Amino acid sequence: MKLYSPSEIREIRDRFGFRNSKSLGQNFLTDKNIIDRIIEGSGIGPEDLVIEIGPGIGVITREAAQAAKKVIAVEIDTDLLPVLQYTLGDLDNVEVVNQDILKTDLKELIADEDFSGKVRVIGNLPYYITTPIIMKLLEEDIGAETITVMMQKEVADRLKAAPGKKECGAISLMVQYFSEVTELVKVPKTVFVPQPKVDSTVLRLDVRKEKPVETGDEEYLFKVIKAGFAQRRKTVANSLSVLGDVTREEIMKALETAGIDPVRRGETLSLKEYGRLAEALKNKG
Ligand code: SAM
Repeated sequence: MKLYSPSEIREIRDRFGFRNSKSLGQNFLTDKNIIDRIIEGSGIGPEDLVIEIGPGIGVITREAAQAAKKVIAVEIDTDLLPVLQYTLGDLDNVEVVNQDILKTDLKELIADEDFSGKVRVIGNLPYYITTPIIMKLLEEDIGAETITVMMQKEVADRLKAAPGKKECGAISLMVQYFSEVTELVKVPKTVFVPQPKVDSTVLRLDVRKEKPVETGDEEYLFKVIKAGFAQRRKTVANSLSVLGDVTREEIMKALETAGIDPVRRGETLSLKEYGRLAEALKNKG
């Protein structure tokens, strides 16, 4: 079954009377090379448990099942269940879970499984919730080794951007706090059915065992990072005033303690600098 072939996709759509939902971001992949890059690039081994987000008609799922011990595919669209039964029903190591990934208790799903390898997350993400999905996977600390996911090119450029680059935002630093980000492959919009308006990129996030910044309070660190990026053309000293819980004097003292020039702009600070700054601010200077 060549699920990546446009004629096969058409046949499945006709057979099940299925229509691609725009609001669920249903753009199906039709390039076998890209699927191989996702599977190989994610490093799936024969003892690994794979969590796939949004299997669609199962095009990536089928290939992942060949490489892994088991694939759990989380799909929100109930209309796709009979399709997935048809396309994956012959595989005994695939389980489809009909849930919203943002509401799924992934830790519990994983705890119920018997496997000796790693947990690997893969997926061609629905574009409308890319960053909430990635932040959920990272913040919930589900024990994944790698997260290898396709997303809109602009979002990928943002997530991998180094401090000081114009694409770098608070989300870049938050994702980089949890993981090391590598671009695997660029994907032109022409390889999807239906064709979206934008190109895509596959990123691999290697989840860090040790964080690059030591902090007892991640929430506060992220609050400081968001404040630092909130007003792009302002100096870091001015941007931090949105925090509300520290005085101007305390901000200036904290910047000095952290060794950061107060006239720098928030978007030029590294993760380590934000780490020092958040600690100093918490201690009111
Ligand atoms: N993996 C398939 C492929 O590459 O052809 C489909 C990818 S398509 C870009 C995104 C998939 O995510 C769709 O199947 C869509 O129904 C599903 N999806 C959308 N929102 C979701 C959610 N909140 N939870 C789980 N799946 C979702």
